Amino acid sequence: MYTKKRSYWALMGVPFALYGVLIIIDPVYYSGKFQMVIDLHGINYILGPLLIAVGSVLIWRFFVPQKKHISIFTTMICPKCQTTYQPDRTEHLTCPKCGGELEPLEGFYERLPELKDE
Ligand SMILES: [Zn+2]
Repeated sequence: MYTKKRSYWALMGVPFALYGVLIIIDPVYYSGKFQMVIDLHGINYILGPLLIAVGSVLIWRFFVPQKKHISIFTTMICPKCQTTYQPDRTEHLTCPKCGGELEPLEGFYERLPELKDE
C-alpha cells in the first residue's frame, strides 16, 4: 500500500541523491540566469555523501515497508472480539478473553473497514 505521501518523499530522494553525486563530481555551480557562481569546493565531500545518504533513505523508505512499531503505550484491540486493552493490561499481546492476537488500535478500522459498524 503506497500512500501519496510516501511516493512524494521517494520522489524527493531522487534529486537529493543526484545532486549529491553532481556536487562531488563538479562542485562549482554556475547559474547563468542569476549570474552567480556557487563554489562548494571543500564542503562537497561532506555535503555530497550527505545528500546521497538522505536521498537513499527516502528511496529506501519507499520500497521497504516500515514495520509498525508497537510501543508499550499503545492501546490494543482484539480483532476477534473487538475488546480494547490498555497496554499495561495485556500480556504477550494476546487477548485474555479469547486468545486472539492483539493489534494496535490506531489505524485498526482503516485496515479492517468491514468491522467499523459492529
Ligand atoms: Zn478477544
